[in-house]
Amino acid sequence: MFEDKTLVCKDCGEEFVFTAREQEFYESKGFVNEPQRCKPCRDKRKAAARGPREMHEATCAACGGVARVPFIPRDDRPVYCSECFAKMKEQEAAEEAPAQTETEE
Ligand SMILES: [Zn+2]
Ligand SMILES: [Zn+2]
Repeated sequence: MFEDKTLVCKDCGEEFVFTAREQEFYESKGFVNEPQRCKPCRDKRKAAARGPREMHEATCAACGGVARVPFIPRDDRPVYCSECFAKMKEQEAAEEAPAQTETEE
C-alpha cells in the first residue's frame, strides 16, 4: 500500500504531496524516480519544453503555397497560409461589418 508522501520541490523549494494515488500511478508506469517538482513547476517546465510552438507545413487550400500551422494538418480540414488566412479574416470582417452597423430606426 502507498501512503501520501511529502516531498520538496527542487525548483521552488515548496513542499508538495506525492499522493498514494500518484505513487500507484508512477509504479504502474514503471517510473522509479519520485517527482522532483511540484505540480505548478512541472507544468511550467512542460510549457517551457514545448517552447515556441511546433509548426507543421501543409499546402494552402487557397493559393497552393506553403502554409505553416501550429497543429498537425488533417486531410479533412483545409489549411491556409498566413496570407490567405488574413485575407479570409478581412473578408469575413467586411461581410459582417455592414450587418453590424445596420440599425433600424
Ligand atoms: Zn515547485
Ligand atoms: Zn495561401
